[in-house]
Amino acid sequence: MEDMDDIISDSDIEMSLTSEDPKPKTAPEFVYKVLSIEEIGTQMKRCIDDIKSVVPLSSAAIRTLLKHFKWDKQKLLERLFDGDEEKLFREIGLVSDNSVAKESKAGDSKRRRYSEILCLICYLDTKTDSMFGLDCDHLYCRQCWTQYLTTKIMSEGDVMAITCAHSDCKLIIDDEDVLKLIADELVKAKYQRLTTNSFVESNRLLRWCPRPDCLHAFSVVSKEAHPVTCVCGTQICFGCGEANHEPIGCHLLREWNIKSAGNNSERIDGKTANWIITNTKECPKCRTTIEKNGGCNHMTCRSIKCKYEFCWVCLDSWSTHGTSYYNCNLYNENKVKDKKSSQSEGRKCLERYMFYWTRFMNHQQSLRFENELKSSVKSKMTQMQDRYHMTWVEVQFMERAVEVLCSCRQTLMFTYVFAFYNERTQQMNIFEDNQRDLQKAVETLSEYLERDEKDANDDNHCIRSQVLHSSNYCQNRRKALIDHIMEGNEKEWWKYNFE
Ligand SMILES: [Zn+2]
Ligand SMILES: [Zn+2]
Ligand SMILES: [Zn+2]
Ligand SMILES: [Zn+2]
Ligand SMILES: [Zn+2]
Ligand SMILES: [Zn+2]
Repeated sequence: MEDMDDIISDSDIEMSLTSEDPKPKTAPEFVYKVLSIEEIGTQMKRCIDDIKSVVPLSSAAIRTLLKHFKWDKQKLLERLFDGDEEKLFREIGLVSDNSVAKESKAGDSKRRRYSEILCLICYLDTKTDSMFGLDCDHLYCRQCWTQYLTTKIMSEGDVMAITCAHSDCKLIIDDEDVLKLIADELVKAKYQRLTTNSFVESNRLLRWCPRPDCLHAFSVVSKEAHPVTCVCGTQICFGCGEANHEPIGCHLLREWNIKSAGNNSERIDGKTANWIITNTKECPKCRTTIEKNGGCNHMTCRSIKCKYEFCWVCLDSWSTHGTSYYNCNLYNENKVKDKKSSQSEGRKCLERYMFYWTRFMNHQQSLRFENELKSSVKSKMTQMQDRYHMTWVEVQFMERAVEVLCSCRQTLMFTYVFAFYNERTQQMNIFEDNQRDLQKAVETLSEYLERDEKDANDDNHCIRSQVLHSSNYCQNRRKALIDHIMEGNEKEWWKYNFE
């Protein structure tokens, strides 16, 4: 692990221009590291210093340029050696400090000449040594600078480069100066997050922890769809950045998300699913589900892209039905049969989808109660300490069991996506056995954890061994299921079907 810094040197920075889809691998040792914002800053600084040793510019200016070139040092150096540095700065709407440095240092003389200067922001006479300004000679008092920078950092999204407080001046203020002028740790952290953001995002071996306000990033040796866990407890898939979606690959998850978004699934539950099956039809053109919401048989597809107008009865184009009144006289039995059977094919697909989708949603719902369960288990742990005279350490198994329960539920949830996209094969039967076993194991553990302690007559030893045994069993079942799917990925057992 100590070698990580060397392995991920700046020379490894590659652009994530191609959207390759890393397949989940069974690699036994997936090496990753969680970096603090300071460590990220150090990595970034090394990259900036490499340029600085060749071109005398401020760190903030180099950082801004590197962002412009998506952190491709080679490209930036080529442009800088090409000649016109000032033209390059003009292109990104800024002024290079070198060009200003050449001009007269009027600020210095002003500072030497007077002991007090009027700050043109707050209009207060201020001691000269409390004034601050860049090489451009726009001097303001430190309080005004602090306020100006804080507003910039806290309110604006993209502060790659903060320019001089003078409204017409495009000179960049350097990182060191910004951090010196700001005392508030929160603002400092935000600035560090914003300035390192493009560095992390253009590096395919780095990824931010998605938890809001968490300032850590994951650093890997090779980009893979592998779960990574932050110091804050957040677990994501490094490949796509979504929540850990074992055992399915990033691509499958994407397909599923697109499909369920298209079906407006958030407001559909099991009951409405049945209603949909009897009260809706699919648009004959684009297969969007259309609901009949009145007596009129003139249907218009609700997909904005399609808007196909058709007849509810015969599913033919409405244009063949006359203009003003419903007039379904173009009845053609064969045609109708044709369309109807294609509908029932679609219906079957929808029913199949609903089957997996309702189970997926069920687990998602249960996972939403995760926090409630955590707090109820916490109070149970206190009860147990009182009732059985157990120590705090002795009841920790409960908390760990909740973690196991949640991770198993999450895996179980995604097995329904896996099943939905897979054709029936011999190996699918084994998968379904594994799925059933895990399902049962999860329900048992869930019951143990939700059970009211007052109703339990067991002694403490019994509860402890029950929960421990059950959560170990869950973990084993989860591992067996994932391993089986991974093995299938390698041996190409699975017949993925995206319709
Ligand atoms: Zn001021
Ligand atoms: Zn200025
Ligand atoms: Zn985190
Ligand atoms: Zn992923
Ligand atoms: Zn349509
Ligand atoms: Zn018709």
